[in-house]
Amino acid sequence: MNITELTALELAQQLHTKRLSIAQVLDAYYAAIAEKNEELQAYISVCGKELTYARAAEIQARLDVGEIRSPLAGVPIAVKDVICTAGIPTTCGSRTLEHFLPPYNATIVERILAADMILLGKTNCDEFAMGSTTETSYFGITKNPRDTSRVPGGSSGGSAAAVAGNLAPIALGTDTGGSIRQPAAYCGIAGLKPTYGAVSRYGLIAYASSLDQAGPMGKNAADCAALFGIICGPDERDSTSAKGYRYEPPLQGAMPLRGTRIGIPQEFLSEALQPEIKQTIDSLTQKLQAEGAAIVSVSLPQLAYAVPTYYIMACAECCSNLSRYDGIKYGHSADAESLRETYIRSRSEGFGLECKRRVMLGNFVLSSGYFDAYYMKALKVRRLIQNAYLKAFESCDVILGPVAPTTAPRIGESLDDPLAMYLSDIYTVTVNLAGLPGLSLPIGKDSNGLPIGLQLIGKPYEDAFLLALGEALPSC
Ligand code: GLN
Repeated sequence: MNITELTALELAQQLHTKRLSIAQVLDAYYAAIAEKNEELQAYISVCGKELTYARAAEIQARLDVGEIRSPLAGVPIAVKDVICTAGIPTTCGSRTLEHFLPPYNATIVERILAADMILLGKTNCDEFAMGSTTETSYFGITKNPRDTSRVPGGSSGGSAAAVAGNLAPIALGTDTGGSIRQPAAYCGIAGLKPTYGAVSRYGLIAYASSLDQAGPMGKNAADCAALFGIICGPDERDSTSAKGYRYEPPLQGAMPLRGTRIGIPQEFLSEALQPEIKQTIDSLTQKLQAEGAAIVSVSLPQLAYAVPTYYIMACAECCSNLSRYDGIKYGHSADAESLRETYIRSRSEGFGLECKRRVMLGNFVLSSGYFDAYYMKALKVRRLIQNAYLKAFESCDVILGPVAPTTAPRIGESLDDPLAMYLSDIYTVTVNLAGLPGLSLPIGKDSNGLPIGLQLIGKPYEDAFLLALGEALPSC
């Protein structure tokens, strides 16, 4: 048995039936990281062995007496480096936070620890989660384990590469406009962007607060469901967390495809889509129909405005969120003579090009004279997009489509043309704008052997339904 190839639930089963010990599992992962992380750059930092093995021993003692606190007890996990971990570096892929040690854990980190999972390390990401390729990190470029000349996607590219490259059985990512789903698609794994409010954002370093959600990334939908069950639920420290939210998985075997109405927005299958992705989705659709699902045509007429709307909202929110990095409170602080110079030099040195571009765009759309023309208009279009989804859900139970217009691009191909990179977010950003759950699943490969992802979009708070459907999908 190759330990690092097991899914998180398979691993848990081995641990809970005492066929493997946690120490054996950690040995296997530390060996894999030592062998492959230098090339893949999936982790920015790996947790020290001493503390990790000590924690493993504590958990092992509980497992040995039959105290199993969660379905993933004893399983190691990688966490995106925008999520606060007490006393463990949390950099957001930025020079600004290169030496930042958070004084507290994010709620989701508290929850994975309470579930007896073991933190393996912090994964690389685009700087402050801004990007689609994990090439904007101050700490280097993550590579796609399926083809190391390609990007893993972004911004949670390190988490996706860790899972796809067998450097972690499961991981946490965050998704503001596609950053869980798109890297999952590029790397051939599964990832869930939960309904906005289903997962606490307390301790998640903000990019765009009205769009950000953390979620699970795993080898398949079942692993994502197990981790989602651990991290979701209300949190009084996050006022946007949904008060009554509870994860209730459908009963085993209660997910027949027969009768499920699957909506496909016609706008999703345009010429812009790589033909092999369209073919793969078409063939899956036929299989679903053969299994008794009803395919319904729906419409999202505002899709053409989705990317500009998203980037106006995201930049407006990020320029406010990044204003706290002033060189004084915490983060990179430049030597300077005056207060003004401290601000300017600390921020100029601390932030990379993409962050600076977005801070400028954000301040522009919020500036008086342009606020109504850009920000207010974007808010209105956001509402139209939400309404279009709700209307579509009157005739279907779930929406199906691509995750990205192409499979993983080559390293270096995207950064020269930021606009083209922004446009590649077309299929994911509307889900964040509307606050819906979105699940990315591997469904095939293109002629270069690169993974193709499928996206399932659900009604608000139907994350569990989406995950169960993901588990029931026929393979392509
Ligand atoms: N690519 C999108 C952006 O750059 C999404 C990023 C994300 O979801 N964090 O904003």
